[in-house]
Amino acid sequence: MSETTDTIFSKIIRREIPADIVYEDDLALAFKDVNPQAPVHILVIPKQPLAQLADAEPEDREILGHLLLVAKRIAQEVGLSNGYRVVINNGDDGGQTVDHLHLHILGGRQMKWPPG
Ligand code: 5GP
Repeated sequence: MSETTDTIFSKIIRREIPADIVYEDDLALAFKDVNPQAPVHILVIPKQPLAQLADAEPEDREILGHLLLVAKRIAQEVGLSNGYRVVINNGDDGGQTVDHLHLHILGGRQMKWPPG
C-alpha cells in the first residue's frame, strides 16, 4: 500500500476541518462533497492512506470491496432507488484533485454518458 501525503481528507478524518459526515465505520468515512455536481454528491474514503486506485495492491482488496459496499449502503439510505453513479477519478488525466482515494456517489438527476 502506498502512503499519501497529508491531504484535506486526512484533516477531515482527524476532524481538523469540518465536513458534513453521513457515514463512518472503522475503515471508511463518507461526507458530502463541498462542491456538489448533482443533488446527491457524497465522497467515500478509506481511513487508511491510499493516494489513488493506481497504488492499490492485492492486500487492499478488502478495503476496496468495503468502499463499494459502503457506497451501495449510503445510496440506499439516502433514497437513490432510481439509480446513481459511482466514480473514481485516478491521476491527472482522470481529473483527480485530492491525493486520497475517494469514491464519488452521484445521484438525484439523470447522468450523462460519456462523462466529460
Ligand atoms: P476529485 O476531483 O479528486 O475526484 O474529487 C475531489 C472532490 O473533493 C471534489 O469533488 C471536491 O469538490 C471535493 N472537495 C475538495 N475539498 C473538499 C473539502 O474540503 N471538503 C469536502 N467536503 N469536499 C472537498
